Amino acid sequence: MSYKGRFAPSPTGPLHFGSLVTATASYLEARSRGGRWIVRMEDLDRPRCQPGAAAEILRALEAYGFIWDEPVLYQSTRDAAYAEAIRQLGDLVYPCACSRRDICRCAEGLPPGRAARSLKIRHGDFVLRRADGLYAYQLAVVVDDAFQGISDVVRGADLLDSTPGQVFLHRALGLPVPRYVHIPLVRDAYGDKLSKQTLAPPLPLDNPAPVLRRALQFLGQEPPELPLNELWHWAFSVWDLSRLPHGTQTDSGLF
Ligand code: GLU
Repeated sequence: MSYKGRFAPSPTGPLHFGSLVTATASYLEARSRGGRWIVRMEDLDRPRCQPGAAAEILRALEAYGFIWDEPVLYQSTRDAAYAEAIRQLGDLVYPCACSRRDICRCAEGLPPGRAARSLKIRHGDFVLRRADGLYAYQLAVVVDDAFQGISDVVRGADLLDSTPGQVFLHRALGLPVPRYVHIPLVRDAYGDKLSKQTLAPPLPLDNPAPVLRRALQFLGQEPPELPLNELWHWAFSVWDLSRLPHGTQTDSGLF
């Protein structure tokens, strides 16, 4: 299969430095191998998505010089495909009546008198369809990585724990399993992963080159000071995944 990578942000707020690092790593892996690269908007969790955030994310990616090879796929348009995947999983899926706090035995059958809330898979017992009827990230990411022909997933190490369950779902659905690379997380001065929850500042759009340079440094490369386009060309030619730092790092005092 020829190389195809992706960046899959959730539009729950603007991009921050941690998202830039992830996008940059997946973009450079794809481009340095002559592969294709796409953006997928993971706008599944309607209550957490912010109006305007998807457009803002795409504007930021453009300002930083990313070019994607296909129209952006929005997961909010894909419910029928997720429903079909659940149908195909058949008996591997079971209804569950529990909230997160309950000790769950629903895999053996719903307790008498309790109604189903969510749908779970008989392997890791994670949720495929939530109690509010929304499809879960774990299912959608597998269905869409396969639908879009993704050969290689490059994403943050925070998703490492999700990978075995996703590989299981790929196999259970008879879909090809992508290769996975998990890159170190950017942490703030308190040691927390940069995220919207920890109020990571949005990426500045007025002068992207120095910020991209910091992202490349974080990824273990040694970028010279260059304007944006030349910086990308430099990065395409020298990108080397084996120079990624091990473990997690702090990058505080960002901009
Ligand atoms: N949408 C997920 C996030 O923003 C990333 C999913 C993935 O890369 O598999 O954390």
